[in-house]
Amino acid sequence: NKEMLLIPGPTPVVDEIYAALSQETMSHTDLRFAAIFKKALAETKKMYNTDGEVFVIAGSGTLSMEMALINTVAPGDKILIVSHGYFGDRFIGVAQALGLKAEVLQSAWGKPVTPEEIETKLQEGGFKAVTVTHVDTSTGVVSDLNKLVPAVKKYGVLFILDGVCASAALEEDMSREFGGHPEYKIDVVFTASQKAIGVPPGLAIVAFGPKALEARKKLEKVGAYYADIMNWLHIMREPNIYFATHPINMIYAYAKGMDIISSEGYPARYVRHTAIGKAIRAALRVYGMQILADEADAAPTMSCVIYPQCVDDVKFRSDLAQKGLIVAGALGTLAGKGFRIGHMGNTSNQTLIKALAYIGEALQEQGLTVNVDNAVRTFEREFAETV
Ligand code: PMP
Repeated sequence: NKEMLLIPGPTPVVDEIYAALSQETMSHTDLRFAAIFKKALAETKKMYNTDGEVFVIAGSGTLSMEMALINTVAPGDKILIVSHGYFGDRFIGVAQALGLKAEVLQSAWGKPVTPEEIETKLQEGGFKAVTVTHVDTSTGVVSDLNKLVPAVKKYGVLFILDGVCASAALEEDMSREFGGHPEYKIDVVFTASQKAIGVPPGLAIVAFGPKALEARKKLEKVGAYYADIMNWLHIMREPNIYFATHPINMIYAYAKGMDIISSEGYPARYVRHTAIGKAIRAALRVYGMQILADEADAAPTMSCVIYPQCVDDVKFRSDLAQKGLIVAGALGTLAGKGFRIGHMGNTSNQTLIKALAYIGEALQEQGLTVNVDNAVRTFEREFAETV
């Protein structure tokens, strides 16, 4: 009986992926390994629909963030950070470490930064890149790319998208011309293996579009070796060539993860996540919970949930853990007032329904009157209506 790991990443790993992970380790220069890796890279390009380059290397999402910036902008350059919470803010630390001049637009937690605010800032001029977090894992706010990409690209600035809590669950099409304009495209998008891809943590996955690759080439040199995409370009074409040892078993797992995604199909996977998001939020509201983000800004992949009155957070989450359900605490000033639940990747509806029942029981144990059947029926109805 597996634990139900419904934190907003790492997400539940299905048996097929565990099986892939435990295959015998090959040489990192073995052509059989290179063939597996190449297929996974081709699938990654398909996921982001890019004619640019993708990089899959050992690391976590934070390495992806660092690679996105170090390969596009130089020390002293000015960037704009659009932050919807803790993970948007993380770019501030990365920018400082790289010697960038960062300006930050922070929304109130649970709200998004508006395109107007971004445009007003960019009108000041001199910005080289803008970072946007597709889903901020602290607040459960999703960025509206239809609005934000044009607002940024109108000013000829690179659009860097943190897809760590979104890729493989929300569309991030790098060839898409937003607003019908050929220049209005996502330039860099990245993720990590442990969220909507459904593979254990350990891989940084980064995609550079043509404009971003051009930016890297203009930099000549960057203050990194491992994180320099120029050192990986030919390796990602011929993975049997040595630059640094590949995380062989993680690549097996990643290849299997991408296979599963490809079999489900991207449009179906995106619709399924939208439906799950709506369904879980509606079901949690039946319990008197509040979702931090407004419905229009709420992420399909995870939710930041505020308790009804008088719920003891520590007791609630440890009661759930006893039942085998792991959720995450709320962050920042919301700590103790709510929890975060992941609903992405290969998490099944069956798991989510079981989780809803456990959540209802945990609330009952704290003396609240809640209707578990009603919540479960709400989940099923909302899911069926959307999918
Ligand atoms: N960005 C977002 C949106 C995230 O959710 C996370 C991790 N929760 C990160 C970046 C950092 O990723 P990692 O913890 O894998 O370094």
